Amino acid sequence: MSATSRTLERRHQFASDNYSGICPEVLAAIEKANAGHASGYGNDAWTQKARELICHSFEANCEVFFVFNGTAANSLSLASLCDSMHSVICHEYSHIETDECNAPGFFAPGIKTIPIRGENGKLTPSHVERAVAHRDDVHHPKPRVVDITQATELGTVYSVAEVTALCKTAKKLGLHVHMDGARFANAVASLEVRPRQVTWEAGVDVLSFGGTKNGMAFGEAIVFFNRDLAENAMRRQKQAGQLASKMRFLTGQWVGLLENDAWLKNARHANSVAAQLHKALAKVHTLKIRYPCEANSVFVELPAKVTVALHERGWKFYTDVGPDGVARFMCSWDSTREDVEHLVKDIREALSGES
Ligand SMILES: *Cc1c(COP(=O)(O)O)cnc(C)c1O
Repeated sequence: MSATSRTLERRHQFASDNYSGICPEVLAAIEKANAGHASGYGNDAWTQKARELICHSFEANCEVFFVFNGTAANSLSLASLCDSMHSVICHEYSHIETDECNAPGFFAPGIKTIPIRGENGKLTPSHVERAVAHRDDVHHPKPRVVDITQATELGTVYSVAEVTALCKTAKKLGLHVHMDGARFANAVASLEVRPRQVTWEAGVDVLSFGGTKNGMAFGEAIVFFNRDLAENAMRRQKQAGQLASKMRFLTGQWVGLLENDAWLKNARHANSVAAQLHKALAKVHTLKIRYPCEANSVFVELPAKVTVALHERGWKFYTDVGPDGVARFMCSWDSTREDVEHLVKDIREALSGES
């Protein structure tokens, strides 16, 4: 491998926050968890501590299950909430609808997602009401869950009032609320609220709490605020191949992230770098920013030739998350101001036709 391609591979990219490595707090915790022996399958001090820290962060007595990734966290949450005749109302751009290869229907056999529209990646109470009112007969799946993504797939954030209103409508219609929080930390950091305000106090029953994109090597937590719904969750977790045998390396990471609020520090940093990128790109008059920048990503309409030119310069980013022609630039806990300057310079040059 040439020196140049090695350099390119190490470059901080804006493709996804899962391109980043492990943050120092988590790495140190893994090292500590590695000392000596500990019981398997979560009967260990790290797992107990991680549970306590999550309950403490949410100021609630929750049931918590630690899994390897977000697809499992979402699917197992939905499996706990649904029977085979049920449906899940979600946004048309939600991860469960577009990016989980039918896993919800695999872990919860028979269930169907009902994708609906909503501006800036968000559901609204009236959209949910309309989706439920659409059919109420025995031939149609029975709506059972509203699935909210926080922060959304389009880089926006539901306010406390918006989540509360959605949950209120859901309860009125007899629906549970699941929150896909792969980027929950970024939402909390953006809103500057206590985690409980935008979850159980607002009416959320179950949260998929993301660790991977926030600075862990891997790991998400399923947090049941409504503990009754967790009755069979551990067996489902085991059956799904999501019960880690050396659990302490999963839960030790959570301890590293939650102790001293590293999770919020990481999220605040990623959000602030995205704000910097947003500000710089907003000054480029030939570019159109597509959505409000409220978390750690910026979505812009990019001419195809500019996308090609940026790819040629070694940049990686997604163009298939939102509508056609829209590129997503995602910031991580370790993105730097220099990374942003480098990217913006290349975008400006690509736009002006230089290469
Ligand atoms: C990344 C992500 C997930 C989790 O994806 P996995 O690849 O299964 O870990 C879930 N929801 C959203 C919104 C995501 O961005």
